This record gives sequence, structure tokens and C-alpha cells, in this order.
Amino acid sequence: MQISRRSFLKLSGATTLSVMLADLGFDLSQASAQVRGFKIKSAKATPTICPYCSVGCGILIYNENGKLVNAEGDPDHPINQGSLCSKGAAVYQLHENERRLKKPLYRAPGSDKWEEKDWEWMIEKIAERAKKTRDANFTVKETVTVPQTGQAADIVVNRTEAIGCLGGAALDNEECYLLQKLMRGMGLVYIEHQARI
Ligand code: SF4
Repeated sequence: MQISRRSFLKLSGATTLSVMLADLGFDLSQASAQVRGFKIKSAKATPTICPYCSVGCGILIYNENGKLVNAEGDPDHPINQGSLCSKGAAVYQLHENERRLKKPLYRAPGSDKWEEKDWEWMIEKIAERAKKTRDANFTVKETVTVPQTGQAADIVVNRTEAIGCLGGAALDNEECYLLQKLMRGMGLVYIEHQARI
């Protein structure tokens, strides 16, 4: 960051004044809380849950005219009572980030470049490949030894070991329920969750 001589003097003056006021016993935290209050005064607050981990801290998202202006810990939330860890405190940049991907990217087998695709194309492609892999690697029956008799028997297993599923902390309860239901329906046995590993 470039600082001119003029802005350097202004900054030093402001810092010195703050230190002097603090030395004189003025509580500056209230003043800075008030300045922040002004910034979000006309913004609409929407409560949400931090997507990063299973602690599930509450966050207030502020938007003004459709634009995200602030995100901070929800003081009324029973889990975090207004506090956030460093990841949660940086949640603002999940939305306001020039590097954020807004469209699915696809890299064809053997290709060295990514292509933008729409969701419809992408979901179709994922479904097609998941089905193909599952069907080509599906086990209907397995021969096992029955412990009671010591004899071999064929049992129905209806499973595939060719696909694994890893859930993420950004999924809520209902999404996790639906996801595992779909995966078990397809015969997957390797079903894990990021918060458990
Ligand atoms: S703020 Fe930190 S501890 Fe709380 S849910 Fe987010 S990542 Fe987890």
C-alpha cells in the first residue's frame, strides 16, 4: 500500500490521539462499536449458520440494496453467543471474492483446460458417469461362510465398491439425510463425512 507524506501525518496524528484518549481513561471500544453500528444501521440482518464445521455457530449476514455489507457472530445464538473463530469471521469473503467460482468448470479427459458449463449439463454428466461406474462394478451376490454351519452360502449384497461419497460440513441435517439415502440406494458402502475424519 502506498502512503503519501500527507496521509502518513494524518494517520500518525489519529493514532496519537487515540492513544492519548485511551491513556486519559476514555473507553474507545464503545466509540468504535458505534461507528460499526452506523455502517450497518440501514442494512437488513439475516441469521444463518456458519458452513465451515459441525460446531454450527450462528452468523448475522447484513445486506443493503442486495449487496452483502457485513457478516458477524450472532449474539443471540446459543452456541457461539456472538463469537466466531477465524474461519467463521472470514465468512464474508466466501461471497465477496473475485476468485469465487460462479459456474461449474469441466475438464474433459486428457484436456489441459477448464471449460465453463451450465448446471444442467454438469448434473447430467455426473449422473451418467455415476450410473455407468455403478453398473459396471455392481455386486449382487457374495459367497460367505456361515459361522453356525461352517458352510458356504450365497447372500445378496447389492453393493458397489467403485464409488465413495464424502459429505461436507456445509451440508445440513436434511441434506445429509437425502445424500446418504441416495448413496445407499445406489449400493455405496464407502460413505464418510468430512467432520468425522
Ligand atoms: S465459526 Fe468456526 S467454530 Fe464456528 S462453525 Fe464456523 S468454523 Fe466452526
